[in-house]
Amino acid sequence: MAWRSALLLDPAASDDTREDWDATFRVVDPDGPVLPLGELSAQRGDGIFESLGVVDGHVQEVGPHLARLARSAELCELPAPNPAQWRAAIARVATEAGSGEYVMKLVLSRGVEQGPTPTAWITLATAPDNFRSRSEGVDVVTLDRGYALDAPAHAPWLQLGAKTLSYGVNMAAIREAQRRGADDAVFVTTDEFVLEAPTASVVLRVGDRFATPSPAAGILHGTTQLSLFSFLEARGFSTAYETVPVTDLTTADAAWLLSSVRLAAPIRSVDGTSVPVDRAFTDELNAYLLSPRD
Ligand code: PLP
Repeated sequence: MAWRSALLLDPAASDDTREDWDATFRVVDPDGPVLPLGELSAQRGDGIFESLGVVDGHVQEVGPHLARLARSAELCELPAPNPAQWRAAIARVATEAGSGEYVMKLVLSRGVEQGPTPTAWITLATAPDNFRSRSEGVDVVTLDRGYALDAPAHAPWLQLGAKTLSYGVNMAAIREAQRRGADDAVFVTTDEFVLEAPTASVVLRVGDRFATPSPAAGILHGTTQLSLFSFLEARGFSTAYETVPVTDLTTADAAWLLSSVRLAAPIRSVDGTSVPVDRAFTDELNAYLLSPRD
């Protein structure tokens, strides 16, 4: 992944009456130095982020990503991001993207300890080549996330459902999956219900019905899954948010991991058991996901 551009925003300058948003951010060198060592994002992973796909210069799903950034800010008691300021900054960074696929990251950190304001920045980098995952699919293993389905209701301090910068556990799960010879993991609850992958949502197909675990289970509400559900509904399929038992992963007609940059990666095996991959249908899903979406 190669850096393309980076920009620092001043969240304190986000007065709603403002029109000169360009004056509230500045382009910085992504190779730094940019952030002080006292940054709580670096010291404690205390902040939130979003990863957006950029395809041929078009930033995908800006509205849904900003809505989720706002929801994460609320869950983590961070100041609400100003959507007009972020939209202007996103548009500025997008001018650096050429043809092809890129990943744009929005970060809102709690800032420097005892500092006056949060810190906010955006980076743009070339996206990894996801062709094989999209076409051939991914082998997954199920991994215990360590809590039961009802954890979000009685432990809000876990910040479940917020996209926080604390992704150490998610990255450890991917390493564990790779140690077991797979490509990726699917987190499951202690009471054996499907949650999500460390960086993706899970969607299952049974006949003409598509289902995904309910975000009430303390998982991220995926922007890609949301967008895909509206595409599927427009084509006459039915969609549902559900409590999904782990056993459904191997009995479904097909299943996918969905995320903003890798897009739809069909699951081809679960804990070593092969599951069907519908390649032609997956290609259609990815063609839609690669088309400009707002
Ligand atoms: N779940 C987790 C834990 C994620 O990190 C992500 C994306 O990074 C997703 C789900 C999928 O979200 P989106 O489709 O908005 O990329």
